[in-house]
Amino acid sequence: MLDAANMQRLVDMQHRSYRLLKWVSQAVTSQFIRFDTAHQYTTLPEATEPWMVEHYSNLPVNARPDRQDLKAFSHFFSTYLSNSFDLVAKPGKQRYSPGAHCFCPMCSWFVEAPHLKTKKVDSRAKRRAQTMRVNVMAGLAVERHRSVPDSVLEGLLKQRSTFVDASLAAYGVDLMERELGIVNGPAVLALWRGFAWNELGSPNPRFQLSAAAIMDAQSRLLESVVNGAPS
Ligand SMILES: [Zn+2]
Repeated sequence: MLDAANMQRLVDMQHRSYRLLKWVSQAVTSQFIRFDTAHQYTTLPEATEPWMVEHYSNLPVNARPDRQDLKAFSHFFSTYLSNSFDLVAKPGKQRYSPGAHCFCPMCSWFVEAPHLKTKKVDSRAKRRAQTMRVNVMAGLAVERHRSVPDSVLEGLLKQRSTFVDASLAAYGVDLMERELGIVNGPAVLALWRGFAWNELGSPNPRFQLSAAAIMDAQSRLLESVVNGAPS
């Protein structure tokens, strides 16, 4: 089961990641963030934490985490980037001279922040998202000492309300994994669309992610798994 207080903290970090990316994008455009320092980082998560420590006081208050959450937030921010976007290199459009551009993983992302392209949700991502939904349901069943075959869970997911709830609950599990730096890829975008988009496939403009919505979805899901399971 997801924990309500922890979910509140994770959803807050997700909102901060989103605001931080917007800020980075503007700060790169206005050249507030520059690329003339050569970093020695080899991976994005490794680069993000020291960068945040160094720039902490410059980051907008609504986009930065509490200091004690910096490590978790660095995982959060880097998994947000790698789950959601493709780095599209646009040679020729670069305004920085090649000699002054640091090519470490973080600067490579940041320099492209104004032109990031959302990852494509292909059939592989959709299948993985469905597995994540089934897994979260199976986990709830096990907590109630039930063993429910995947085929039964997949049957329950054909109901729209169960599909939405399972998408939210699986997204909650992914938030916990992201804190540890686990990257589930564009499957997470597919989960997001499962609850933030309508049945016709367009985003619901009024949708706002909340920890309460995830916790409520989990409770309803537990009920439908237990009721739908052969006893
Ligand atoms: Zn760099």
